[in-house]
Amino acid sequence: MEVSTAQKHKQQQEFALASISELASASSSSSLSSSFPVAARFSADCGVAELRFRRHFESVDAFSFDLPNAKLFKLGPLQSVCITEGADTNKEESYSRGVLINFRNEEEGKTFHCAFEQWKNGCIVQGSCLPNGAVSASKSKFDDKIEPSSAKMYFHYYGQLLHQQNMLQDYVRTGTYYAAVIENRADFVGRVVVDVGAGSGILSLFAAQAGAKHVYAVEASEMADYARKLISGNPSLGQRITVIRGKVEEVELPEKADILISEPMGTLLVNERMLESYVIARDRFLVPNGKMFPSTGRIHMAPFSDEYLFVEIANKALFWQQQNYYGVDLTPLYGSAFQGYFTQPVVDAFDPRLLVAPAISHVIDFSEIKEEELYDIDIPLKFLAAVGTRVHGLACWFDVLFNGSTVQRWLSTAPGAPTTHWYQLRCVLLQPLYVVAGQEITGRLHLVAHNAQSYTIYLTMSAKMWGPGAEQGGIIQTSSCKLDLKEPYYRMSQPQAYTMAQDQQPHQLMHAQDINIQADDLEDPELMQQPSQT
Ligand code: SAH
Repeated sequence: MEVSTAQKHKQQQEFALASISELASASSSSSLSSSFPVAARFSADCGVAELRFRRHFESVDAFSFDLPNAKLFKLGPLQSVCITEGADTNKEESYSRGVLINFRNEEEGKTFHCAFEQWKNGCIVQGSCLPNGAVSASKSKFDDKIEPSSAKMYFHYYGQLLHQQNMLQDYVRTGTYYAAVIENRADFVGRVVVDVGAGSGILSLFAAQAGAKHVYAVEASEMADYARKLISGNPSLGQRITVIRGKVEEVELPEKADILISEPMGTLLVNERMLESYVIARDRFLVPNGKMFPSTGRIHMAPFSDEYLFVEIANKALFWQQQNYYGVDLTPLYGSAFQGYFTQPVVDAFDPRLLVAPAISHVIDFSEIKEEELYDIDIPLKFLAAVGTRVHGLACWFDVLFNGSTVQRWLSTAPGAPTTHWYQLRCVLLQPLYVVAGQEITGRLHLVAHNAQSYTIYLTMSAKMWGPGAEQGGIIQTSSCKLDLKEPYYRMSQPQAYTMAQDQQPHQLMHAQDINIQADDLEDPELMQQPSQT
């Protein structure tokens, strides 16, 4: 079903259908049916969104529905039914009506359903007519790259108030956004703002508080309905906010934005792949040289040493060392379980004194980067160890910049800074590296996006060994691992031995356990024994 461009005015959208027929009620004597092509037209001419059906040879509408009262159900890939409640106030006398719709093909059916939701949810805001709601007839960029089951779970998650509350209660996060917006009123006063992934609508309300002329709050999950409720409960701000339910990749807005505001950051900055949606929103909605809040993100990385963490992960697999588990020998799966635990990046707040070298950073400029550049992020690593220790992996965190014209503000998730709901992320190597003070640690952090809205992490870290081989060019110790950012190990429930570090210099070697583990042991993980104290 092509959305004819001539018909795709701001206020209406038309579709061609194979045929329609009226659903006859038991009391209805006639059934209006048509095997002729039919046009279906969504419109919002008088403030209320409507869906009208007209046969091609007729000049009057066969049926019309008020969209707020209408529902659309799929009966099959090519057939749906649209039903509306009877409008009569006297319920006894009121009858519901329905129309059976036959689509010309499956794709057109899907697009019609998508448009129906858009018009039903996005067209009427606080009683006023919103000239938007058009959707792209083709599959969106989001659908092209994201597995539908992942998207379904993702938006289901964000559709729940408890998860929005969790973010709102991260006062470092929400407070920094509030401060960045309010301190930079000049960037918002009289401006058109788009809130990309509005969630509860909180950032839209902040932008309205800062004097925005109008805010378009785009939210794909059911949270859009709650956002509408919250916004209409704050009428002095809400009259300047329009909530649109839909993906930023798909919705049409009636005007361009002077400024985008969004909170698209996931663990390690890029998890959830929402930065890509932010960048797509930039390209679709932002005026040239418009502002982005935030405008820059940085991933920070440093090697760390944490014997406790390493032992804890290694020990998780000990369960599989049982040779008599209800009479079953579990050891054949020990090696796989051991390796499996090391594919989970660890999310928790750690003491910055665990860092072994000063951090390096990778900058992502949200206003410049191409969406595709976020599919594959390859970061070379180079550090100078400040202490002699065992390096257990790479610690990562991020920050983002609000580059306001009055005040610049960073939202940081660094270890040692006030903890946020993102905590920090650590990739733990199966085989730790030994380093001495001053030694160079090199490697690569390679992030490859996957269609479950996350990344596969390929980490390699190397250090030249000291000792006899060093004079002959050195022996390289290298350790590599592959992790899935989608499946982290949330370790926050563990009691955190966390003291606010006065001194954030890298620490001296920990007073921790050491593990006698040789490179050869890892070839045959069954050799891995209980840690021995040194
Ligand atoms: N802005 C809110 C919510 C941030 S969470 C706040 O700061 O509190 C990110 C939100 O973006 C979620 O509610 C999620 O459903 C929404 N979202 C993610 N990808 C989206 C997309 N492509 N289009 C529209 N909304 C999206």
